[in-house]
Amino acid sequence: PLDTVTVDLADRSYDILVGHGALDHLGERLTPMLKQPRVFVLTDETVERIHRHRLDEALAPTGVTTIWKSLLPGEKTKSFSNLEDILDWLLESSADRGDVLIALGGGVIGDITGLAASLMKRGMKFVQVPTTLLAQVDSSVGGKTAVNTPRGKNMIGAFYQPQLVIADTALLETLPARELRAGYAEIVKYGLINDPEFFAWLEANGEAVLALEAEAITHAVATSCRAKAAIVAEDERETGARALLNLGHTFGHALEAANGYAPDLLHGEAVAIGMALAFRFGASRGLTPQTDADRVTAHLKATGLQYAIPGRQGGPYTAARLVELMQQDKKASGGRVPLILARGIGQSYIHKDADLSLVEAFLSNEL
Ligand code: NAD
Ligand code: ZN
Repeated sequence: PLDTVTVDLADRSYDILVGHGALDHLGERLTPMLKQPRVFVLTDETVERIHRHRLDEALAPTGVTTIWKSLLPGEKTKSFSNLEDILDWLLESSADRGDVLIALGGGVIGDITGLAASLMKRGMKFVQVPTTLLAQVDSSVGGKTAVNTPRGKNMIGAFYQPQLVIADTALLETLPARELRAGYAEIVKYGLINDPEFFAWLEANGEAVLALEAEAITHAVATSCRAKAAIVAEDERETGARALLNLGHTFGHALEAANGYAPDLLHGEAVAIGMALAFRFGASRGLTPQTDADRVTAHLKATGLQYAIPGRQGGPYTAARLVELMQQDKKASGGRVPLILARGIGQSYIHKDADLSLVEAFLSNEL
């Protein structure tokens, strides 16, 4: 089954093709965009080794030449120096605005490739072929591109939308189980934000999604893309409703930062814990029904995700440290921070100024 999600922006729209074998449609979608029969592809070494042949095979019948560059896998790759190398490589190959740059990889490759595309001669065409679940349901949708600097993650970036996204769920079959589950946390997020039926569907079908059963994974990815696309269409530059996508992320980012972004806590794993915390914090304040908070915890547990702050005494996570990190949020001021909370499953809202002393008391209780 193949599904098409259309992202409607102020000035144009583009498609996200979702499903097992979606990559087979790359050629027919790509050729009308090209001025010359060639395309630039950026990837990481792991993805290149596993999946390069699939992209080459998809394009073979079109006679389009692929010009490849691959970077080391990992978050460190999202750097200024790599951005410069990519731009150098494109200039050296005399790429121009009529050329297309494809990102084949996870969020790291998607983010740096999109930024390079936005800068190259003030903007060359950009296509995303996300290969991680997180990239298929989150980072490839919405047009945020970035690199990291020693002063912070995603500090340098641009809003730059692709021409096309191909989310081929068959590519996920080689993804490590932990990466798959971490991406699943972002899928759960869309149910919790504003789609209680989807959350209920996940409760019934989460296992099939994680087993990559074709229909289930296609439905989960397409529903997630549709949810994010709708929020982004409403608020492309994050001035309002787009903040809902941060459900679980204020707590999650604090956990990741407290842990020094070490690989024993993946982003999606931190978000899973963060969502559970947001629901339990809401319940502790009488804002969220306890039964809904319990359902969130139970579903995360059932799918093998974490739902509580890991470790006990002596670990990197203390209530004081986490609150200190939350205070560094761009929008925090005067001991208050905007927090995404929920009146129930599928009823998330922006709680404009959550009191961090209450959050600290709650977190102490959690630990
Ligand atoms: P990633 O790109 O580092 O990929 C994770 C690992 O999986 C890498 O080692 C990669 O080589 C490997 N991999 C990728 N595809 C594979 C496949 N099909 N089979 C086997 N291995 C594969 O990580 P990610 O989780 O995809 O993305 C994280 C990044 O996304 C972060 O930098 C984050 O800031 C960014 N992000 C951006 C947005 C956005 O809106 N732009 C949203 C969320 C996250
Ligand atoms: Zn996230």
